[in-house]
Amino acid sequence: MKHRYFFFLVFFIFINTLKPQSFTDINNLYHSYPLFQEGLFKDKFVKYETILPLIDKIKEDDRFTLRLAGRSLQGRDISLIKYGNGNKKVFLWSQMHGDEPTATMAIFDIFNFLRYQGTEFKELRDLITEKLSLYFLPMLNPDGAEQFKRRSALDIDINRDALRMTTPEAQILSDSFDSIKADFGFNLHDQNYLSTAGQTYKQATISFLAPAFDHEKNINSIRGNAIRLISELTFNLSIFIPGHIGKYSDDFEPRAFGDNFQSRGTSTILIESGGWKNDANKMFIRKLNFLILLNAFSSIATENYLKFDFTQYNNLPFNDEVLYDLVLRNILVRTDSTFRKIDLGVSRGGNRDNSSRLSSGVIEIGDLSTRFGLDEFDLTGHVAEPVALDQISFFESEEEIKKDNRNGNVPAGSCFRTAPNPVQQPPGKSLFVGIKSPLMEEKSIFSLGNRTPLIFKNGEKKQFLLINGYLFKLLEFPNEIN
Ligand SMILES: [Zn+2]
Repeated sequence: MKHRYFFFLVFFIFINTLKPQSFTDINNLYHSYPLFQEGLFKDKFVKYETILPLIDKIKEDDRFTLRLAGRSLQGRDISLIKYGNGNKKVFLWSQMHGDEPTATMAIFDIFNFLRYQGTEFKELRDLITEKLSLYFLPMLNPDGAEQFKRRSALDIDINRDALRMTTPEAQILSDSFDSIKADFGFNLHDQNYLSTAGQTYKQATISFLAPAFDHEKNINSIRGNAIRLISELTFNLSIFIPGHIGKYSDDFEPRAFGDNFQSRGTSTILIESGGWKNDANKMFIRKLNFLILLNAFSSIATENYLKFDFTQYNNLPFNDEVLYDLVLRNILVRTDSTFRKIDLGVSRGGNRDNSSRLSSGVIEIGDLSTRFGLDEFDLTGHVAEPVALDQISFFESEEEIKKDNRNGNVPAGSCFRTAPNPVQQPPGKSLFVGIKSPLMEEKSIFSLGNRTPLIFKNGEKKQFLLINGYLFKLLEFPNEIN
């Protein structure tokens, strides 16, 4: 009996050494996140003014030390915020690119976590406070953030300025780095929301990289520790977003800060926040950043990452570009007397800031059978014809369209309301349209960047309208309503 018990004990230990340890708090943190989510962030357009009141709160909290790291070219303060008294130093900087705000939001969630007075996760907080010294530099590029643009006020990409340091922001980052001499560094960015994790339809919601420090992509213990930690983070994050984790290009770029810092002795990790369907404001991905960073802090504090090898990191698929906002398949277009079959890849242009409207366009024409769409439609049997924008009238309401109809202004069969499913619509918008004849010449479909609306006809019946990157099913109005 005793012998058998011993056997099970050995077996149990054996199994546990094989299986990498997971971060036990991650599930609880996922569900408790609303306790810590900073409510001031309503959308992804995070500017200097947005974070100022939050920085002020930190100033008043004596658990944090705040110092002015420097000023941006246009004179905005850039703060370096320290928390904890431990020997292991961790340095994090965010929004080096002004239109990449996801991690900035997560950093303020983490401040809320660290300042939390309740008993939940006290053990984790104590561990962090005791073992780590955390240095945060949120929003390195406040001038760019002001315009929600990538580059600095000098229109220089700060992440290509690590050697020459023309921009004050690059100098500030480098000086902060030198003053801290961190064990681990986190370079926090956003990437194209259409990047995919390999050749799949799955968006690379998070991409990691342990940047190379030379052209040969050698691995020393500094980079090796970054890789081990990414293996752990990938292992745990996979629970929430399986298949949506990618690896960023690992080509050596000496002018980039991650590569530069890796060569200067800090285990550096790049985290790129990508896309997640129906998360245009990155609120879900911000939550993932929160989880990833707390997982990382716990792991660095306990050196748990040393239990991981390079497997999970090596198995990550590289980012790929095989995704469009919208793919329309098997469309017929007429050229002279011949019908030809094409697919269309449509871009919605991304919304650059609060004020600007979506600007869509056709960005690929041809065989897209190896490509994917966030939204996809098979339009087999439908013939596409372009229609000039001034041939389309928009009505505010059903009443307005009925009035025009009673006055005889609307020719029969030319007015439509758009149907709900199975078509995509911009959130909160319904559309009433009138479409006059004649349609334009078919050949203008064959033009990349074409923003002209398209009508899709089945026989003589107009059935779909593609406008501003969205496909609408057309229902004849008012006949269909009455
Ligand atoms: Zn970036």
